Amino acid sequence: MPDVVVFAESTADVKAVVEFAARTRTPVTPVGANSSLEGHTVPVRGGISLDLSRMDAVKDVSVDDMLAVVEPGVVYQRLNHTLRQTGLFFPIDPGAEATLGGMASTNASGTLTVQYGSMRDRLYGLEVVLADGRVIRTGGRSRKSSSGYDLTRLFCGAEGTLGIITELTLKLAPRPQSVVGARASLPDIEACVRLVADLIQAGLQPARCELVDAASIAAINEHTGLLLPVMPTVFLEFHGSKASTGLAIEELGELAGHSGATGLESAPDGPELRALWQARHRALPSLVAANPGMNSLITDLAVPISRLTEAVAAAHQATLELGLPVYVLGHVGDGNFHVTIFYPEDEAAAAKAHGFHADLVAKVLALDGTCTGEHGIGLRKLPYVRAEHGAAVETMWAIKDALDPLQIMNPGKKLPPRMA
Ligand SMILES: Cc1cc2nc3c(=O)[nH]c(=O)nc-3n(C[C@H](O)[C@H](O)[C@H](O)COP(=O)(O)OP(=O)(O)OC[C@H]3O[C@@H](n4cnc5c(N)ncnc54)[C@H](O)[C@@H]3O)c2cc1C
Repeated sequence: MPDVVVFAESTADVKAVVEFAARTRTPVTPVGANSSLEGHTVPVRGGISLDLSRMDAVKDVSVDDMLAVVEPGVVYQRLNHTLRQTGLFFPIDPGAEATLGGMASTNASGTLTVQYGSMRDRLYGLEVVLADGRVIRTGGRSRKSSSGYDLTRLFCGAEGTLGIITELTLKLAPRPQSVVGARASLPDIEACVRLVADLIQAGLQPARCELVDAASIAAINEHTGLLLPVMPTVFLEFHGSKASTGLAIEELGELAGHSGATGLESAPDGPELRALWQARHRALPSLVAANPGMNSLITDLAVPISRLTEAVAAAHQATLELGLPVYVLGHVGDGNFHVTIFYPEDEAAAAKAHGFHADLVAKVLALDGTCTGEHGIGLRKLPYVRAEHGAAVETMWAIKDALDPLQIMNPGKKLPPRMA
């Protein structure tokens, strides 16, 4: 528990809180919408929980420069609502209601990342309150810059351990002229992954590209009343001109045929597209409903696309041996996949689930992957950071010490303990 919760309403409020914290050596944990999944906002050393959700102004939208300037507490869905008449949108869509400050701080991504990038790719600049209360600006509004060190990318993904973001300048995207979705059922997960790799290699860049395994499809059918074939399924969406999306669906048909797809459906934008995606969007609640009273552990592994088939196959094989309910969902176009394990409320089962996760991380690191494609480190993934980054962890500590010498910014997160 924090000792106190402070609701900031301006950069001046944040500066005042941080100056007080520096004077009194009090830990400060920034909080956006609190949707992060790895214990990021748990104030492990007490102190101040600094809630930024009231800093929620959209300060500027420039259609000509395709950018928006926002305060950190703006929830991305609301930004898109504000943008609806402009022909532009902000394309990072993590599943939960999340603030743009929190999303920048975890380098969040979503189902559209395969085409539009992650938060890191959609930031022009930031305003940041440093750990001593100084306010700096990073980046700017220019589309290109080779000036200075790239501090914008340093604070992006820092999980509030280096400073507090009080303003973001965001890169928007034009709304596509045409959006077409497709869903294909395939004989096995490897065929799904191969189909996606073939698509990308054929230059048919999907905007969304999601894998749902057969066990998840069964749970979704049960929970939603849908009657999808209980097979590994790929959900796709293409954005572009009418001609390019039409061509993509045509070529998808051919490639899916070669991959042994038994069912291929496509749907134009509107209610049909929403219906086609319903199963993917209802996946998580369906899995929870299928496992009442159980705890869950969601992994967030990512590998280079060329290793994805191998990584998913290894994960799938390991799940068969685990003897607990396990499901595989993935943003496969980015090489990022989630294995969700359900386990009963007892220590032995929890240890088994966490041991399984540790084994999976080791497999994925051996395939040049990462323990977290999008959720971040927080508390729970600390044990994997040193195995992934080796000696670079000491360089990370040097950066942390330079920017937060009193160790008051979200302490106990992101970096594992120093070498003795
Ligand atoms: C159902 C569900 C689905 C999800 N799906 C995805 C997904 O597809 N992709 C994905 O990337 N994530 C996903 N997430 C995780 C989560 O939504 C993201 O991590 C999101 O970016 C967190 O935003 P938030 O506003 O909730 O931040 P919080 O949880 O409040 O904070 C996250 C971190 O950022 C820090 N922080 C917050 N605001 C600031 C600030 N202004 N300055 C500095 N540091 C700050 C906090 O201290 C913390 O370390 C999902 C979560 C849920 C519950």
